[in-house]
Amino acid sequence: MEHIDGKILPVSLEMLGEARRLFDDFNARYSSNEKIVAVILGNNIKDFSKELIEYGADAVVCADHPELKDLRNTIHTKVISQIALDKEIASRIEPDYAKEFKKPRYIFFAADSIGRHLSSTVLVELESGLASDINKLVIHDMTVTHQIKTEGKPTLFKKTLEMYRPDFSGFLWTTILCLNNTTPSIKREYYPQGCSIIPGVFEPIKPDPKRSGEIIFYEPKIEENDLKVKVLSHKIVKSEVDFEIRKAVVSFGRGIKDAPDENIKLVVELAKQLDAEIGISLPISKKLLPASQAISSTYMIPARVIGTSGSKISPMLYVAIGISGAMQHIAGMQDSEFVVAINPDENSPIKNECDIFINGRMEDVIPLLVEELKKQQQVVQAG
Ligand SMILES: Cc1cc2nc3c(=O)[nH]c(=O)nc-3n(C[C@H](O)[C@H](O)[C@H](O)COP(=O)(O)OP(=O)(O)OC[C@H]3O[C@@H](n4cnc5c(N)ncnc54)[C@H](O)[C@@H]3O)c2cc1C
Repeated sequence: MEHIDGKILPVSLEMLGEARRLFDDFNARYSSNEKIVAVILGNNIKDFSKELIEYGADAVVCADHPELKDLRNTIHTKVISQIALDKEIASRIEPDYAKEFKKPRYIFFAADSIGRHLSSTVLVELESGLASDINKLVIHDMTVTHQIKTEGKPTLFKKTLEMYRPDFSGFLWTTILCLNNTTPSIKREYYPQGCSIIPGVFEPIKPDPKRSGEIIFYEPKIEENDLKVKVLSHKIVKSEVDFEIRKAVVSFGRGIKDAPDENIKLVVELAKQLDAEIGISLPISKKLLPASQAISSTYMIPARVIGTSGSKISPMLYVAIGISGAMQHIAGMQDSEFVVAINPDENSPIKNECDIFINGRMEDVIPLLVEELKKQQQVVQAG
């Protein structure tokens, strides 16, 4: 569970909500003695424990230690792995299950910069696999035939976590499985089945102050050798772009391709008329387009990306220009109050996300909008 400035991050509560939904079903179908355990590390964080129970955890393991105040990947990896393998903790949470407990069955991290890093190092430490950037999870029994894992024989894998992730286009899906090897000569279990979860895709559950659960304060085993990296100061670098102070955001995507420089100038003019901040889709920040130096360094920068790899915004007005509506982008703007899309492709998924879809090329549509906005402003000023 990640936290900052005395608050649990929304993505952590979303993960907990999805874990609760999955486990209400799991507990009813398979066994009631496997539990959801929220793990939280930091300094002076004991007060979070009750909140995590209210948001769906059956138990909380809280490692509260001065050396865990700042995130250091090596120490956090070590402490999370210690907790994951601790039989004593398992027996306090569920004595019956502790007898057969070796490792957690599943483990979730946030797919943000901290979670992406930690998930990979923890899963290496626990010697299992990791699926990153997941946005759908299903648990069920499945029969799999695999050349290496099952020697080509159909084999039943129980309680398997199907982890879905969008591919790089954002429109196709890949299902990732972390399966044990059942071949007699190699036989090996792969637990936990681990993944990182994209922020904004799952809903937290409604917190219930009446929920109760086991809270365990864990004393981490940190040695002198672990403390080689020291955090001397901690400074939060403010983003160069502040989406919060504007009521409108105008974003552009790869649809600028026909004439990047001219098209960005059109977008800038529209943003000016709407007093809007300018956002972009992720590929634009990768500078694949030949635009002039001044335009690239002002607009084609990571700080302007909207979506799971950038900012999550909720303006009164969001205008998506030349953006197809990949789910990673939608996750960043779906809380906007009113959405307008400009796109010549009627089948673009952005059409399902907007209040007004303008079917046309930006080169044709933006000048008309700008002209009309100017006229309206004159009317307002005259009135
Ligand atoms: C792990 C991961 C994380 C990601 N994170 C993000 C993220 O945070 N944010 C993000 O945006 N993407 C993200 N992506 C990428 C995402 O999957 C899409 O590839 C991306 O959003 C597509 O960008 P686009 O809509 O600009 O381009 P495209 O999908 O190429 O769409 C371009 C659109 O422009 C339209 N168009 C063409 N000509 C014109 C014209 N003349 N006028 C107007 N419209 C026109 C087309 O019809 C099309 O709909 C991520 C991908 C991965 C794998």
